[in-house]
Amino acid sequence: MNRRYHSTNFINSAHNISQLPSDQGYEVAFAGRSNCGKSSALNTLTHQRSLARTSKTPGRTQMINFFQVEPGRYLVDLPGYGYAKVPKAVRHHWGKILERYLSERQALRGLFLLMDIRHPLTDLDQHMLIWCRHHTVPCHLVLTKADKLKRGAALACLHQVQRNIAGIYQDTSVQLFSAPKRIGLDKAHAKLDEWLGLENINPHIPPQEHK
Ligand code: GDP
Repeated sequence: MNRRYHSTNFINSAHNISQLPSDQGYEVAFAGRSNCGKSSALNTLTHQRSLARTSKTPGRTQMINFFQVEPGRYLVDLPGYGYAKVPKAVRHHWGKILERYLSERQALRGLFLLMDIRHPLTDLDQHMLIWCRHHTVPCHLVLTKADKLKRGAALACLHQVQRNIAGIYQDTSVQLFSAPKRIGLDKAHAKLDEWLGLENINPHIPPQEHK
């Protein structure tokens, strides 16, 4: 098990670009439709109950939240998109901020794009993929709630998504994930390690012992 992410802690929340922490270090952002399981995935990956707030009310978390894995290494929880009850002006505001964040952020090493395995690659998800391609941000598609399907059906969906993106989106990978069943945890950690530049550091050794 990769324990490196277990002491991840909350740093701050931003409502707009000017409130973002200084653009330094490495960060991986998490995006997805509201209710896709983004908060549950962040909590599972960091082995914490409520680092990211899961909510019964989709579309409630409208902030960019920064979490520090270790100094200079961050996970960024972007606001969930696609919730119909969010007023149009608010959706427009966040659409603009998301695009500015993806286009301008130097620290951004890659985007985890989370999608409910039962509704993958919606129009809004594809919009995110197009933005990533346009701004050359590598993208890792995480098919959440994989426990909702039988293993064969989940794998069929994984392969279908792989076929759909092949040749269209470079620098894009896909995996299955389930928060309650802890499916795909190692794969997701490995991708985070790679993007955060942590892959050559043994996560089982406490940080002070790395020389
Ligand atoms: P967010 O709005 O994207 O942050 O989604 P949440 O993490 O709050 O999850 C939305 C709902 O889906 C909640 O009821 C979660 O318990 C449920 N959920 C999230 N991930 C999983 C999963 O991997 N498997 C199952 N079965 N349910 C999940």
